[in-house]
Amino acid sequence: MTDFRAALKNKKRIVIKIGSSSLTHKETGRLDLRKLEVLVRELCDLSNQGKDIVLVSSGAIATGRAALGLKEKPTELRTKQACAAVGQARLMMIYQKLFSEYNHVTAQILLTRNTMVNGVNRVNARNTFEELLSMGVIPIVNENDSISTFETQFVDKFGDNDTLSAVVAAMIKADLLILMSDIDGLYTDDPNRNPDASFIETVDSLDESILGMGRDTPGTSVGTGGMKTKLTAARIATAAGTDMVIANGADFHNIHKIMEGKKLGTLFLQNAKEEFFLIDFIESLGI
Ligand code: GLU
Repeated sequence: MTDFRAALKNKKRIVIKIGSSSLTHKETGRLDLRKLEVLVRELCDLSNQGKDIVLVSSGAIATGRAALGLKEKPTELRTKQACAAVGQARLMMIYQKLFSEYNHVTAQILLTRNTMVNGVNRVNARNTFEELLSMGVIPIVNENDSISTFETQFVDKFGDNDTLSAVVAAMIKADLLILMSDIDGLYTDDPNRNPDASFIETVDSLDESILGMGRDTPGTSVGTGGMKTKLTAARIATAAGTDMVIANGADFHNIHKIMEGKKLGTLFLQNAKEEFFLIDFIESLGI
């Protein structure tokens, strides 16, 4: 029988998504720099092994909010967008500083739903990813929060980076997507509420019983994605031929442990459809 965990070692193209709650201190919403250092070292090491690495990082709004000294989480759209504009630049400055300590070059790619749905934009985005990866650059992706909205007539936002990271993974035909979250993985029920909830190590098919486990319950006030968005990400990634792992982002050392085949998090096995059209698929999910 194939050991799917051990096979993760050989995955070549890897997208890693980090949520805001895994990057910031709970008490202040400011960046957790020691954790960021571990994250960057882990990613540089994977890149040094010859792997293609893409980081999807949240944290623009949280970082901007802290930089602007806003005590409360912003609720007004324009305030969130202003926070994102300030925070995205600051986030990239910090990433570039940390990655350059290990001699790695990063790039920023900001996407929206419209840029992914638009054929020309999508081909350009894919070409840019391919070119950067062939140069050994680590692209750092986020949603372009300052210009994309839910609220306008045209919905132009994925709204959460779980979905965005799966769409990116599908577009660049990644072998593996790792979602670092504030939960260990998938449980049969919400473990915060139900002590009998049991942990699921491997999901080989996303049937109704698994999809029903996706309650929309983010554990913190900084992120936007709950288990529901993670299961949507799993649907996109696995249909596109990408394995996906949801694991706890409390300790970024988990990244190399997952890559070594340790039984951490929940592994969703890819289930590639013969004919997979990314945009038709996400539209069929109502995204
Ligand atoms: N794009 C948002 C940010 O960087 C976060 C979205 C998410 O948490 O999934 O602040």
